[in-house]
Amino acid sequence: MKNYDIIIIGAGASGLLAGICAARNGSDVLILEKLSKPGKKITVTGNGKCNIFSDREDVENIVNGRDKEAAARIFKSIPFDILVRFFESIGIFVLEKGGYYYPVSLQASTVRDNLVTVAASSGCSIICDCDVTDVKETNGCFVVNKEYSCKKLIMSAGGMARPDLGTDGSSFKLLKSLGVDHTELYPALCGLITDFKHLKVIDGVRHYADISLMVDGYEAFKEHGEIIFNKKGISGIPVMNCSGIAARALRRKLDVSIRIAVLTQRDREIMLKSIWERLVEGGYTIEELLTGIANRKLVYAMMLHMKVDPELRPGVDDGFRIAGHIIDTLCCLTLHVTGTMGFENAQVTNGGVRLDEVNNNTFEHKRVKNLYITGECLDADFVCGGNNLTFAWITGLRAGTYAAGGIIDSDICN
Ligand SMILES: Cc1cc2nc3c(=O)[nH]c(=O)nc-3n(C[C@H](O)[C@H](O)[C@H](O)COP(=O)(O)OP(=O)(O)OC[C@H]3O[C@@H](n4cnc5c(N)ncnc54)[C@H](O)[C@@H]3O)c2cc1C
Repeated sequence: MKNYDIIIIGAGASGLLAGICAARNGSDVLILEKLSKPGKKITVTGNGKCNIFSDREDVENIVNGRDKEAAARIFKSIPFDILVRFFESIGIFVLEKGGYYYPVSLQASTVRDNLVTVAASSGCSIICDCDVTDVKETNGCFVVNKEYSCKKLIMSAGGMARPDLGTDGSSFKLLKSLGVDHTELYPALCGLITDFKHLKVIDGVRHYADISLMVDGYEAFKEHGEIIFNKKGISGIPVMNCSGIAARALRRKLDVSIRIAVLTQRDREIMLKSIWERLVEGGYTIEELLTGIANRKLVYAMMLHMKVDPELRPGVDDGFRIAGHIIDTLCCLTLHVTGTMGFENAQVTNGGVRLDEVNNNTFEHKRVKNLYITGECLDADFVCGGNNLTFAWITGLRAGTYAAGGIIDSDICN
């Protein structure tokens, strides 16, 4: 049996940071990774560019999880500039683009490579192709896969989102075997499936819109941004941001729909005035009258939806009524949501180990001593924008430092 001070399960975002911090604080560290390479998920973040940090101040408004206040405190517990300086010290330099932060390389793979080389040069051993399936605690010692033992164990094996990237929820099974439970798990930051009949026509269409998630008739979420239609439903940042709420509501068998306002009331008035004038002029088909009010395919889908013949050359009153009807629908298109795109397509997991079960400075479990839990294993997930990685970095940095007996200046009250 090979013995280490600290074993970290999972060489992802939080695990690699925990490893670097633990090794730099003098511990003998082993990181075990299921996949053939460490940090595979990091390389696909931000569409391959890695939206690496967030400096959002209003964290309470962008977090899901049972304890939003605790999540926000943790998020802010390492000030943004200190986090940036830490990353600079390990060769990861950051640029800001429209309020989002990326590595200056704009290549997520460079973030992964730097983390892995710094972890190795700090003294961490990383073993890949090692699927941890068994963890036992006996006499104050953790035994992992009956092969490795340690005094302190850091669980950084992520959540359930994107099993193809190594995260299939095994973290929760392993934690359960150590007596640690978790809240219900849902996919989040994924697309939504709708039963709109004409999705094929609008597959690939992108549009800026106000979207509202309606749950049993109440507006549960509202955001403006780019939505993307596909063959199964809709995606895009505002849709992804409300998908966790939708997933929870669907599991509770509540009625879920998405209201999409492609056009505003102001657009409506300007467009109707122009349509009226052209109708009075005469000679236009419905399609010609509506060309340019929104994406052509989307307008065509609305005509199909309302069984309107695009070639129709209506009179003034009929034309105004039909065009008005289509414009009104684009002001408030309601799509019934029948499901989410699931963990296979989700970017994060909603749910996990409750934050009040761990010390929020050290991330040591309150009952199971010497067990530390980081990143997506915890019950906190955030909207898009670098927030989930920020949470992973902070929890990994804290857990690694404290497990190795180090200290951090900016502790928060627990
Ligand atoms: C496509 C995509 C894009 C994203 N883009 C962004 C973005 O731009 N910005 C952002 O902030 N967030 C982004 N996220 C979310 C972010 O990547 C995660 O929240 C973050 O990586 C979670 O870190 P973690 O350390 O908890 O787990 P992970 O980074 O998921 O790492 C867990 C590691 O544990 C390993 N593992 C799992 N089980 C075992 C086991 N039994 N034995 C051994 N190893 C195991 C896994 O293989 C994996 O390497 C994205 C996610 C996805 C899927």
